[in-house]
Amino acid sequence: MYKRKDIKPFEKKVWLASPTMHGDELKWMTDAFNKNWMTTAGENVNELEKIAAASAGMKYAVALCNCTSALHLCVKLAGEKLYGKPVISHGALEGKRVFCSDMTFDATLNPVVYEGGIPVFIDIEETSWNMDPVALEKAFEMYPEVKLVVSAELYGFPGRMDRIKKICEKHGALLIEDAAEAMGATIDGIQCGAFGDYSAVSYNGNKIITGSSGGCLLTNDIEVANKARKWSTQARENAPWYQHEEVGYNYRISNVVAGVARGQYPYLAEHIAQKKAIYERYQEGLKDLPIKMNPVTEGTEPNYWLSAMIIDKEYMCKQVRDDSKSLYIPEEGKTCPTEILEAIASINAEGRPIWKPMHMQPMYRMHECIGKDGSIRAKTNAYIAGGTIDVGADIFERGLCLPSDNKMTPEEQDRIIGVIKECFE
Ligand SMILES: *Cc1c(COP(=O)(O)O)cnc(C)c1O
Repeated sequence: MYKRKDIKPFEKKVWLASPTMHGDELKWMTDAFNKNWMTTAGENVNELEKIAAASAGMKYAVALCNCTSALHLCVKLAGEKLYGKPVISHGALEGKRVFCSDMTFDATLNPVVYEGGIPVFIDIEETSWNMDPVALEKAFEMYPEVKLVVSAELYGFPGRMDRIKKICEKHGALLIEDAAEAMGATIDGIQCGAFGDYSAVSYNGNKIITGSSGGCLLTNDIEVANKARKWSTQARENAPWYQHEEVGYNYRISNVVAGVARGQYPYLAEHIAQKKAIYERYQEGLKDLPIKMNPVTEGTEPNYWLSAMIIDKEYMCKQVRDDSKSLYIPEEGKTCPTEILEAIASINAEGRPIWKPMHMQPMYRMHECIGKDGSIRAKTNAYIAGGTIDVGADIFERGLCLPSDNKMTPEEQDRIIGVIKECFE
């Protein structure tokens, strides 16, 4: 229970995660300006694609206006490969079930819905907070006809995406990897973004590196890359006039924005080192509290984008949430995410609740979420569903993301740690 409300807040807000610029970004933006390539083509776009592909260990990257559009093209590409060319009035996945990460940002699966697909969510595993391979196997037992899986890495802490990939191969399904949060993280030394048949990364302003916006589609298949490039530029056919045989999109990245992302890549490793130091400082500072940090899965090396923690059950005070508000009853020796987030905010630092699982979202309340014993998760905010524990709901209930900005000083972080400690008094 947090009592000390009288301490002085930080003069400058400590963010959850904000852009960290170095100077190269401005150089490449200015270069675009000076050469008058103020459009969706140019040297920055070409160079960014080379750097992004090399960085992920993939053959091709297609630079797009954001990661959501990259994921949309991934879904379209997969849909066309699996089910043939969609007629103009229908989506590529019309009426088809698609297995999707449950605990992720909704941009992971929005494109599935754009294309008429029906997301079926897969619970996370407690040991990694990522899609549970056991639950995925159960899902394939229940719906053997499913041919597409969309899986994301959470907070830059990968689970075993390689295992997810193997399960997909076994069932003849394609895998879309949403590595938006996981650039630079590895599994057995292999970069995240290299596991999907189609993968996507993000340069959104709060990610580990940024273009202010932007993203890339990654693939090893040149035809896929060419198709994505064509679709992203209004699907123009090779003709002297505007000739169109299929629906196109205006998804290309700006050469100015690409300059920012190009300028950031050389600092990816530095950002990861800073984020790792932040994670370790929290781990050390909070080690005597009844909490757990977000887990590091064996064989993986996270990019440590966001540090997060969950409170042990016995130390949770009563907390209830509806669709927009949260209430709790303060209790001696106990706390809850809402109280900690309020305490952190009171010193002008930004935390955030754990991403609310998709199966708990009102828009997906009629969709299934499958657990590791094959049970369907409750469609309410129920803490425990029938069968095994609803892992996503549980971590949402007990967890929060901690201020993880790489410009946060150790002194600032120590004060945040101090406030968290006081919440347990
Ligand atoms: C940020 C994010 C996205 C969306 O990226 P944009 O570039 O903003 O479109 C998609 N998936 C996940 C998991 C994300 O965190």
